[in-house]
Amino acid sequence: MSIAYLDGSYMPIEQAKISPMDRGFLFGDGIYEVVPSYAGKMVGFGPHIARMQNGLAAVGIKLDWSEDNWAELCNRLINENGAGNLGIYLHVSRGADSKRFHAFPDNIAPTVFAYAFEIAPPPVADKALAKAYKVSTTRDLRWERCHIKSTALLGNVLHFQHGYERGHDETLLFNANNELTEASACNAFIVKDGKVITPPLDNQLLPGITRHILLDVLRRDGSIAVEERSVSMDEVLNADEVWITSSSKEVAPVTQIDGKAVGNGEVGEVWLAAQTLYSAGKFDY
Ligand code: PLP
Repeated sequence: MSIAYLDGSYMPIEQAKISPMDRGFLFGDGIYEVVPSYAGKMVGFGPHIARMQNGLAAVGIKLDWSEDNWAELCNRLINENGAGNLGIYLHVSRGADSKRFHAFPDNIAPTVFAYAFEIAPPPVADKALAKAYKVSTTRDLRWERCHIKSTALLGNVLHFQHGYERGHDETLLFNANNELTEASACNAFIVKDGKVITPPLDNQLLPGITRHILLDVLRRDGSIAVEERSVSMDEVLNADEVWITSSSKEVAPVTQIDGKAVGNGEVGEVWLAAQTLYSAGKFDY
């Protein structure tokens, strides 16, 4: 049984109930986060909460919570739910109103919901044990505010489903200029001639915390060159390695795109070096 938090109380998840007039339900009008935690230690807690606060400010949801408030909530959920491999889901919607009307209501109290769910053990930096991901490609048809971690995820859901129906684990997304943006629930990287390249942060992609940690550990180490610049579809299809990153997957090697091998079709050496550095450094964030 999972213990959840809803608007000031902790309870078994089955007892958590929200109003159908909640704008999170009616409009997807909310912001969320997922913070990974292993044996009671969270990865990237500060950056996750900073992104949450940025998202709330960007959509004008007023919630007077400090980082300490969020830390108390996360630690309580970790203690209540067994401190194994957990994803801590945090969700703030604009709140429940008496009518369905698009404009922001005055004096509405945000709904705060959180729960913990089991996630896979963190990936180990070992080529023999690594899960090799197969992905699809498609045109990115989402909105122009993909930097906001909105709960309105139908665009992402439809893109994920595109790959899923083809037996793939994810879908790489390309804008109208055939440039890589990200994947439906991950950021994306290529490796070419030993250099790690990823699209720059802008409104077309989520500023992933795993992306941030990975770029930082690579730059601090300094042995692998890193570049943030636009990446064409052609470059993706001719890359030596392709990776997708997210809080639960960390750095995931992609070995097939639309049924065709990436590079030599094997999990790469640069991935091994990158996941090794990530595993060693992630609890510093
Ligand atoms: N891009 C999208 C669209 C996502 O939904 C996610 C994670 O959910 C990511 C990227 C990766 O972000 P993070 O590394 O913070 O988990």
